[in-house]
Amino acid sequence: MSGLNIKRVPVTPLRQNCTIIFNSEDHAVVVDPGGDVDTIISQLDGMTVDMILLTHGHFDHAGGAAELSEKLTKKQGRKVEVWGPDEKDLFLLKAISAQGNALGLMGLQDIIPDRFLTDGEELDLLGYRFEVRHVPGHTPGHVVFIDEANGRAIVGDTLFRGTVGRTDFPYGDFDALISGIKKNLMNLPDETIVLCGHGLPTTIGEERKNNPILARY
Ligand SMILES: [Zn+2]
Repeated sequence: MSGLNIKRVPVTPLRQNCTIIFNSEDHAVVVDPGGDVDTIISQLDGMTVDMILLTHGHFDHAGGAAELSEKLTKKQGRKVEVWGPDEKDLFLLKAISAQGNALGLMGLQDIIPDRFLTDGEELDLLGYRFEVRHVPGHTPGHVVFIDEANGRAIVGDTLFRGTVGRTDFPYGDFDALISGIKKNLMNLPDETIVLCGHGLPTTIGEERKNNPILARY
């Protein structure tokens, strides 16, 4: 995985994968810090965090972002910004504590990101180029991050090993999710590693062969 290391830290009772990417110079980017912020900080092991990214506005992905940003900003003496997802998830980001409370989880904080992301923009993360793609359906503003040159994609709750993200929310859209996955992810090479929001990583080739939902729709 050419020069970039990846650590998966399951957080919250939903075991959401907070993904830490980091380089050999001890700089890191944290994707989807849903909660358990002290666990995330201990996994950072003193690394400098350049940025926090969010794939979408569900509490298990974004519920620790405000606290993590605040703690890292204090520690590093420089503002650690939170970027993403697409602005269409603002209604969810403003209701994170309410999402948590509904499940009996207290202490999660709403977050207004420093910047929303839009489809097609390119981010320089630790010297690597990641493209932002808008893949709605699980939530209206869900984005994924793709480093095509190095064969890796951080996909949140769009595509999983053997299945796809839930769409049984009032704002869910199954057809949009399937067409977004096909257009933005299934066009990638087979060997592309897919880092999912829950469970183990997979590859595009594996899902092309074995994903029953994608085979059917
Ligand atoms: Zn979600």
